Amino acid sequence: MTEMLQKFDVIVIGAGAAGLMCAAQAAGRGRSVLVVDHANKAGKKILMSGGGRCNFTNYYVTPDKYLSHNPHFCKSALKRYTQWDFIALVERYGVAYHEKKDGQLFCDNKASDILNMLLSECEQQGVTIWLDTPVSAVAQCTLRGCRYQLKGGGVLLGCESLVVASGGPSIPTLGATGFGYELAQQFGLKVYAPRAGLVPFTLTDHNKQLSEALSGTALNIEVECAGQVFRDDMLFTHRGLSGPAMLQISSYWQAGQSLSINLLPDHEVASLLRQQQHERPKLSLKNWLAELTTQKFAEKWLASSAWQQSTLAQLSGADMDAIALSLHQWLVKPAGTEGYRTAEVALGGVDTDELSSKTMEAQRFPGLFFIGEVVDVTGHLGGFNFQWAWSSAVAAAEFV
Ligand SMILES: Cc1cc2nc3c(=O)[nH]c(=O)nc-3n(C[C@H](O)[C@H](O)[C@H](O)COP(=O)(O)OP(=O)(O)OC[C@H]3O[C@@H](n4cnc5c(N)ncnc54)[C@H](O)[C@@H]3O)c2cc1C
Repeated sequence: MTEMLQKFDVIVIGAGAAGLMCAAQAAGRGRSVLVVDHANKAGKKILMSGGGRCNFTNYYVTPDKYLSHNPHFCKSALKRYTQWDFIALVERYGVAYHEKKDGQLFCDNKASDILNMLLSECEQQGVTIWLDTPVSAVAQCTLRGCRYQLKGGGVLLGCESLVVASGGPSIPTLGATGFGYELAQQFGLKVYAPRAGLVPFTLTDHNKQLSEALSGTALNIEVECAGQVFRDDMLFTHRGLSGPAMLQISSYWQAGQSLSINLLPDHEVASLLRQQQHERPKLSLKNWLAELTTQKFAEKWLASSAWQQSTLAQLSGADMDAIALSLHQWLVKPAGTEGYRTAEVALGGVDTDELSSKTMEAQRFPGLFFIGEVVDVTGHLGGFNFQWAWSSAVAAAEFV
């Protein structure tokens, strides 16, 4: 006897940010929609995001905030479902939010406000959600009105449109997998090898001891690598360097490259030292540096230097230039990153050349869609990744 096939217009794999958004919007068009997820709870990354407050979008969404092998791909979807559209949805639900800095919008209360909003949208539109449902045996289907079939928790399922919204492999403990990449490869679609992005650096050289000693200290710095510059906070950790500035530059960093860190970007150290030497000659270099940073930083930074006990009067011109260089261009060669264990995103993913930028549909496989993080589009820190999830989801939802 042939196995009974349960049919939906649309099946979405992954009940995360993109999957839930796409499901609600597609069901709003009258499509019957099933969302399957192997996790025991929907939207786990949403709940974890933004330190529990979900940085759900940004006032200043522009394509240059995204990394992709095709920087133009994201433009169409971002233009058609904008941050203002998502903000309008958030406001319709009365979710309280605030701008933290640089246009980053966070919930006043909890990230669950965003997840509950998405689940409520799904419920109102009649979306069926199956959790604890592993997916296997995805294949094209030859039955009428059915283009793809799969096994979901042992049930044979069929659909006209299959939406892959299974995210990237960062934070595996939250149920993250590389399933979407494998599925794309199964259909012969090109996938750019994923790697951890928005992730802290690890150090092994002499700078490791300094980071350990300064663990917990934060400085507002400017970091440069591979032609990119970010100005934000940097945090010393037991393992290396973290904080928003380091997470941002990590997405551009390649193994073997050095970071150039300006520890005092608001000051011109060489001329400032000369001026201070004239005005406050008896001041110790350590106390001068502590005034601009922290006492702990000044102590540890100067601990192994020749100027540990120097007063400003004792410094030669060459000393002052060397001190300025060491503070304005601190060169750090990371040993690596903390990897998917703590990364906020995975760079790489399904090659955008395989997809329509208007619909997110695979060019060679009608009815097969990829949305969200599984696609080779990765945002900067600051709410840009969720905005990509919402925008790509809505783009697909109009055509599934
Ligand atoms: C700690 C942390 C904090 C973050 N904070 C922010 C933030 O504040 N702002 C921001 O913009 N971005 C943030 N991000 C990034 C953001 O969470 C992701 O970009 C976004 O969740 C991607 O959405 P998605 O729907 O593509 O994938 P996800 O939200 O990861 O959803 C994928 C879903 O697919 C399911 N799945 C995976 N494999 C399978 C499988 N084999 N079978 C069935 N289901 C499967 C998963 O269980 C999951 O529910 C953060 C990420 C992390 C890890």
